[in-house]
Amino acid sequence: MIVVLLGPPGAGKGTQGERIAAALGVPKLATGDVLRAAVKDGTRLGLEAKGYMDRGDLVPDAVILGIIKEALAQPTYAKGAILDGVVRTVPQAEGLAAATQELGTQVDVVLTFDIADDVLVERLSGRTTCDMTQKPFTGFAPGIPCPDGCGGTLVRRADDEPEAIRNRLRVYQAQTAPVLDWYVAQGANVQHIDAVGAFDAVTARALAAVGR
Ligand code: AMP
Repeated sequence: MIVVLLGPPGAGKGTQGERIAAALGVPKLATGDVLRAAVKDGTRLGLEAKGYMDRGDLVPDAVILGIIKEALAQPTYAKGAILDGVVRTVPQAEGLAAATQELGTQVDVVLTFDIADDVLVERLSGRTTCDMTQKPFTGFAPGIPCPDGCGGTLVRRADDEPEAIRNRLRVYQAQTAPVLDWYVAQGANVQHIDAVGAFDAVTARALAAVGR
């Protein structure tokens, strides 16, 4: 099963994506995680992506489509994928459709996380992330050891600084919101869920929306 998670930054796609992946037994793929790992490792991909990411701009479509095609062809994703933040422009949605068709599969559900902008800004500006596992936390200062005890340290992502947050929301409206219209126009199975509320409640809504 291939599920596309759509929604603005801070809507909870990462956290809920993990939970949906665990419940469906299908791995999650997050281009943001792939790119951050590349930046950390100092690879060519990381060097190319870093500037865009720090500003909250989108990494070019050709780079993202390369990541998507390479990942989906791996045996890890043979049973499908929960795609978190992977499709952020209409050309990326078109590229994903072509890539899945080539693999003899397709996007089954597009799950859209609905949430107001002021809630997003509050969430993102209070967020820190484990530098080892990339798990997000709220209510913890940067610099302390990861509360999960994994040995990592909590850091503030450069793109969770206020100016970058505002830019990411602008970019979302301009470039990613049209992706939803594109899927609707394609006749895709588009499901909206209310992304505000307790983690478990949102997970239950998401699983109901994907038919579990
Ligand atoms: P995320 O962790 O999903 O918030 O992604 C962090 C940053 O990585 C984004 O602000 C973009 O700069 C970049 N990025 C991740 N996925 C994509 C994508 N599908 N298209 C373009 N840029 C992306």
